Amino acid sequence: MAPDHLYDLTIIGGGPAGLSAAIYAARGALKTLVLERALPGGQVQNTMAVENYPGFPEISGAELGEKFHEHARKFGAEIRIASVRDVSFDGMVQVDTDGGMIYTRAALVATGARWRHMQVAGEEPYLGRGVSSCAVCDGFFYRDKDVVVVGGGDSAVEEGVYLTRYAKSVTIIHRRDTLRAQKILQGRARNNPKVTFLWNTIVSEVLGDEQHVTGVRLHDIVADRDYDLPTDGVFVYIGTVPNTDFLHGKVEVDEQGFIKADCCFRTSMPGVFTAGDVRSGAWRQIVVVAAEGALAVREIELYLAEEALAGAEDVWQTHPHSRG
Ligand code: NAP
Repeated sequence: MAPDHLYDLTIIGGGPAGLSAAIYAARGALKTLVLERALPGGQVQNTMAVENYPGFPEISGAELGEKFHEHARKFGAEIRIASVRDVSFDGMVQVDTDGGMIYTRAALVATGARWRHMQVAGEEPYLGRGVSSCAVCDGFFYRDKDVVVVGGGDSAVEEGVYLTRYAKSVTIIHRRDTLRAQKILQGRARNNPKVTFLWNTIVSEVLGDEQHVTGVRLHDIVADRDYDLPTDGVFVYIGTVPNTDFLHGKVEVDEQGFIKADCCFRTSMPGVFTAGDVRSGAWRQIVVVAAEGALAVREIELYLAEEALAGAEDVWQTHPHSRG
């Protein structure tokens, strides 16, 4: 166990990966700190219904996030709201936060990912005024209105169907003619009379009247034609970008910026591990990233044991007679 001022493990990010790691670490008697930038629970907080997490045939993302949180606290993990500014290694890991420096024997980066933007004209100015990536937060504002959803993955299709609770119509705009989404989700969308699809189509601009979104400019790739579609809301679900800015490029990442890890969740920085959506190659499912958190802790425990042994070796080299 580490002395009072030093943590065994500092987990950066309080989503399913981070909180699951916190449960395993704290229960395994590691002095564990979880740093979360905002509300614990991560991106899952914004999911209306989770229906593929074992043991919970249907539970809201917010409730599941809260359960993870309570569970981690039950075993003594300390959870702190703080923004991490930097991470470095100098014999031990140092985590610089807006609440001060944290010294820790190991760190786990589980900061997840945020929604990717389309980066087209009009998108940024209308964020929060018709452009959103949170159907659960904003769907309510689109009662009896027309909305479009951009993307063809699980998120676009699932959130598109969710939006039909409120909206008069939901048009899913996809750049190809085949969805990436799971078949069960596709079926729900295709069978929903409020949902229509625009295939082989990309959004080239978000249009508005200075106050709110009024439409989207579209490009039909096959017909090579541009046209405008009136709409009240644009929900963008075109994948995610990893939350790694605070690492300032000090840790090796893949071409999309997700953190590279070896077999054992180790990053290129000593003492720093990674798990969950921010890890390169992660399968972004709650059950998978939660399991990754647990597995990472097993590797961290081995690392800490080796590190303690190496520390003892140092002492023995300095004081050879203490070996007995
Ligand atoms: P995703 O699987 O990466 O899908 C992103 C979609 O956006 C793809 O259809 C992609 O088109 C499209 N896209 C990407 N860049 C684009 C651009 N610049 N312009 C237009 N379209 C673009 O992301 P996701 O749907 O958020 O899912 C992420 C992960 O979470 C997946 O592993 C998914 O299984 C998981 N998830 C699971 C559930 C569930 O189990 N219920 C729910 C939500 C998410 P292409 O298909 O042409 O590449």
